[in-house]
Amino acid sequence: MTESAKTSTNPETLALHAGYRSDPHTGAVAVPIYQTTSYEFQDTGHAANLFALKELGNIYTRIMNPTCDVLEQRITAIEGGAAALAVSSGQAASAIAIQNIARSGDNIVSSTDLYGGTWNLFANTLNNFGIEVRFVDPSDPENFRRATDERTRAYYAETLPNPKLAVFPIGEVAAIGNDIGVPLIVDNTAAPIICQPLKHGAHIVIYSTTKYIGGHGTSIGGILVDGGTFDWAKHADRFPLLNQPDPSYHGAVWTEAAKPLGPIAYILKARVTLQRDLGYAMSPFNAFQFIQGLETLPLRIREHSRNATAVAEFLLNQPDVTKVIHPSLQEGETRRRADAYLTGGFGGLVGFELAGGSEAGRRFIDSLKLFYHVANIGDARSLAIHPASTTHSQLGAEEQAATGVTAGYVRLSIGIEHIDDILADLDQALAASRGTAAAAE
Ligand SMILES: *Cc1c(COP(=O)(O)O)cnc(C)c1O
Repeated sequence: MTESAKTSTNPETLALHAGYRSDPHTGAVAVPIYQTTSYEFQDTGHAANLFALKELGNIYTRIMNPTCDVLEQRITAIEGGAAALAVSSGQAASAIAIQNIARSGDNIVSSTDLYGGTWNLFANTLNNFGIEVRFVDPSDPENFRRATDERTRAYYAETLPNPKLAVFPIGEVAAIGNDIGVPLIVDNTAAPIICQPLKHGAHIVIYSTTKYIGGHGTSIGGILVDGGTFDWAKHADRFPLLNQPDPSYHGAVWTEAAKPLGPIAYILKARVTLQRDLGYAMSPFNAFQFIQGLETLPLRIREHSRNATAVAEFLLNQPDVTKVIHPSLQEGETRRRADAYLTGGFGGLVGFELAGGSEAGRRFIDSLKLFYHVANIGDARSLAIHPASTTHSQLGAEEQAATGVTAGYVRLSIGIEHIDDILADLDQALAASRGTAAAAE
């Protein structure tokens, strides 16, 4: 790490300087794309040491890559974590995060308020693998304690889940986890920079880098950050995968093997076993794209938050908008959590409901001119979608209701265009949806 970045704890500085200064051979300032599969060993002793983890170094790009390494170091520095692992998608990050510590017969306790893809992974695919996911309402943190038994391996939640946009009680659930010996994994995709979950007690943070970190809608990727704060050895009975000899790595005990390297047993195991065996590697080119995005993320996320707060206020004053969802408008305990955990802005996501229900929602979407109608969030451009007919359509009506999606609900991901242009587009699309509604009656 560079000297300036070593002394800084500010995300604005770390995003530009952590993990890389310039290329030692060429002086290149931009992080090079190391588009290589393999790395020449110095001699047979060096090769043997690398494979035995006696020395850390590059072996094969499925397991590590120098471009991915810079991304990993930068995000680790920003989060205040111990180490990170870049993977091929946000879905891969959430799958690995669980598979790393849970196996058939185990369970995790998850918030009901989840991204649709994560819901499917948990309710169906992990279930098929024999890992039970117990869904609980996060409005009462004690629900996590109540659902825990001796086979519970993790708590799982999203910081700022849509559609409810009710910030997760990170500190409260992390404290319950510390009591019982269960780590809290937080998906912070919707709130990078503005929330730093590790600082509030979360133990593992994951991202879909596809969204705000990339920021320009070019690449799919994900990352896991190990906070290094969970004592896996203290809870050896609960975490045999980290505390008993691993036959897939000549009997390594991961809590022991990591000792000379730092508090990174979790991420070390994820890298050298799951990434080796399942191969969810991030491509070096995508890592380069995420590094470019990360460099301006602190600036962009402030503007996303500012524009979204203005949009929420605008929607609040529209006659046929029955409900507006944004942390800036929340009250009571929900607002207290937003204020406690979103310390750098309220984020770029805004939800609202049209009086005309599903039909009005669709007409609104079809009338947008500046906003893109896409299944994505976190792009520099403004985006919109109607979840009931798209992202959440694979869920049953009851599951949809449990995640908070209603028929007339529209989700906006507010970009960094000029606020006047964003509001003008919303205004004309609302008018168009209204006009057609009147004509249809
Ligand atoms: C998009 C998203 C994911 C999945 O990420 P991919 O990169 O699309 O695989 C997971 N969690 C949240 C909150 C997301 O928005």
